[in-house]
This record gives sequence, structure tokens and C-alpha cells, in this order.
Amino acid sequence: MEQANLFQEIVSLCKRRAVVFPSSEIYGGINSCWDYGPLGVELRRNLKDLWWKAVVQGHRNVVGADTSIIMHPEVWVASGHRDHFTDPLVDCKSCKQRFRADQIDLTKCPECGGQLTEPRSFNLMFKTYMGPVEDDAAQVFLRPETAQGIFVDFETIFNGSRGKLPFGIAQIGKSFRNEVSPGNFIFRSREFEQMELEFFVDPSTEDFWFDKWVKERLEWYVSIGINPERLRTRPHGPDELAHYAKACVDIEYLFPFGWKEIEGIANRGQFDLQVHARSSGKQLVVFDQVREENVVPSVIESSSGVDRILLVALVDAYEKEAERSVLRFHPTLAPTKVAVLPLMRKEPLVEKAVSLEEELRGSFTVEYDDAGSIGRRYRRQDESGTPYCLTVDYQSLEDDTVTIRFRDSMRQERLPVKGLTGRISELMKSREPMPVE
Ligand code: ATP
Repeated sequence: MEQANLFQEIVSLCKRRAVVFPSSEIYGGINSCWDYGPLGVELRRNLKDLWWKAVVQGHRNVVGADTSIIMHPEVWVASGHRDHFTDPLVDCKSCKQRFRADQIDLTKCPECGGQLTEPRSFNLMFKTYMGPVEDDAAQVFLRPETAQGIFVDFETIFNGSRGKLPFGIAQIGKSFRNEVSPGNFIFRSREFEQMELEFFVDPSTEDFWFDKWVKERLEWYVSIGINPERLRTRPHGPDELAHYAKACVDIEYLFPFGWKEIEGIANRGQFDLQVHARSSGKQLVVFDQVREENVVPSVIESSSGVDRILLVALVDAYEKEAERSVLRFHPTLAPTKVAVLPLMRKEPLVEKAVSLEEELRGSFTVEYDDAGSIGRRYRRQDESGTPYCLTVDYQSLEDDTVTIRFRDSMRQERLPVKGLTGRISELMKSREPMPVE
């Protein structure tokens, strides 16, 4: 199938099954803001949990933080965002559409062929006012990245955790960018969520840690079931580097619309702590016991977007077969782990199925469904990516077994109800269902 059609199918599946869809749609929607429904929200939570488990809980020397979206306006002056966080913008004099000057041929408007204005800088930070008076003194910004909250809190968190270098602080939270050209569904939006790690190291070790995090982060995508053939790393050339970065590697994914960045790993050197120290007048240093001197740590950053990785998960998992559409999520990512289906909506099948549903609900996200033919119910679960369907039939009433049906192979086996929770937990560890003896 053509890539553009495939992408369109994923977008319509997301709408039809209320996974993710335009915000405020009954008012015609608002450009590039998205709402997540029940399946989408479970998928988001799983994604964030897997990231948190790997990045924070998986390392003795990484801790979490949750900093505010609105910060002191001086933060954005010191960080360089107020002056440098801009995109070059051009307007079409005929159709009035706006474009990013670095993304189009500047000889004519890509939409109507009209004449374009000269490029001008457009700051991507959303502005608002704090308090009742709307003047310059009250102007504040919605954060365009979560990282700055970590830098300005570095000292408090490092000392409060009795930290030692190397030391990481991680955060998941909303960021806002007034993007000139949002698009490709949830790939680029104006309100989105980021997962960021700032890893503080002795400057003499920064190259070692940079390489280590690039490797570790790439492996993480494979561990959550993303096809390694659709992943690659791309180092930034010297002319591409952001003003704060010494080195940067993007992790890219092959979307239906081409290879695109999903995560940036940067060696930010001492830039951030130095500029905030200068601007705030506070010393942001760590005492090195061996050298007996203060050191300004260097920072290795991993920065990714929840919504963008969620799109990766959807695109990577989606398959259209002759008889069905299926989302082949890794079981740990799947929004619903288990569907419980009585063969028919009849007693005592329903009673047994409901009691099984209740038993499993404590351990997994479970959906109960007794409406329509069993085949249609299987298809519905395939489309939402549920890896296991448990069917309660007449044999279940006699010998306390159920049929487990695997999403990917559609193979079916009988399993005893006793010990089912443990069995499903075992199965969930691998992407391909293990043969059931
Ligand atoms: P681009 O060049 O694509 O605008 P960037 O290099 O400015 O992106 P970063 O500042 O490196 O992006 O952001 C880190 C991560 O945050 C990105 O890899 C992406 O996953 C996510 N992200 C950034 N901007 C957006 C957005 N507008 N919508 C959704 N996710 C985003």
C-alpha cells in the first residue's frame, strides 16, 4: 500500500477508535492540538512508564523531577531562548499562508506560486501574562522544553539527594512551541509532552557519557518493540549544531513521510550551568573531593517527545491484512493487555467471564466484550492492539480452562484458569507469543 494511504489509515483508525483526535473538534478543531481517548491515554502512560523505568529506576544515579511550566522570565534570557529560539518565517503576499523559510524554495509560494516576503525571525515561545496587569513587566512564557527547569533546580536536587557525579535528573512534562508549520498528525504540534534527561558529568568524561547514552537510548527503542531497521542515528554537522551544543546525535525513525528526528542526544558542555550561574549570581558547581576544587559539570542531554514516539509506536505496529487491521504493539506497550470474551452473551458463560475479568483486572488492563460474533470481537481487539483474547466457552464450565488467542499469529490454545495471571505476565515479556505447551 502507498505510504501516504497507510498513514491516512492510521489517522482514521485513531479517530474511529478514539485513540487520538483533534482537540475541540465540535468547534471545528484547533490547529495542531490533540486529545487522547481511552486507548491513547493507556498507550501514553505505558510509553512514559517504560521510559521512566529505563532512565530513572534503571540507574542508581538518576533521579526524577517535576518542575513548573511557567518560570522566571530571566531563565529564558539566560538560556538564549528569548533571542535565539526562532525559526525563519516567510509570508505569501497573495494567499497569506506562512512557511518556514528553511523548508521551502524561496522563489515562490509553494501553495499558490505567489510572491513571498523577506524571511524574518519568529520566536517560538508562547507568551502570556502573570497576574491581573497585562504589561511587559508581567510577561511570562510557557516553557518550550522541560530542560531549563532541571538546570535551575540543579543545586537543590543535587544537594537534596546527596548527589555525586555522574548524576542525572529526568523529567516528563508538557512543552509548548508556537511552531510555524505544525503537521503530520501528532508528529509536530504546538502543545506536546517531552521526556528529558540531563546527565551531569565531570567535563573530562563527557565524550564517554555522550556515546554511552546514544547507545543506551537507541537500544531502548528496540526493547519496546520498534523495528531496528526503521531506526538510525544521525550526527549533526558543525553548521547544524544548536547554540549550546558541542555535539548532537539525532535518533531518527523512518516514517511514511521519510526519516525524521524522534530524539536528540546532545553534549551541552558547561553552557547551561555557566549561563544560569552568571545570570542568577549563584554558584552552580560541584566540589571535587579528589582534586579539591569546584567543578562546573558538563551536561549530556537526552530529549524526546511522548507524542512523537507514540506516533512511532502506531506506525511501526500497524498492518493491514486481507481480513483485518492489526496493531502489533509489544505487549508491554499495548493499551489493553487482555480481552475477556464469553463465546455468547448467555448464562452461565457471562457469569464465568465476568468473574475472570474481575480476577485479571487487578493485574492488567482488561476489556470485557460480549457484543456480536466472536470473530468480529477478535478483529476489534486486533485493531486496538490487544495481544491476548481469552474466550470462555462451554468447555470452560466443565474443566475451568479458557482459549487464549494470540493477536499476531491468531493461534489458539487452551489454558487452565488457575495460574492465568502468571502465565500472561510471562507471555508479555516477549513480542512473539511463546508456544504454549
Ligand atoms: P525540529 O528541528 O524537528 O523542530 P528540534 O530539533 O527543535 O525539532 P528538540 O528541541 O531537539 O527538537 O526537541 C527534542 C524532542 O522533542 C524531539 O526529538 C521531538 O521528539 C520532541 N519535539 C520537539 N518539538 C516537537 C513538536 N513541535 N511536537 C512534538 N514533539 C516535539
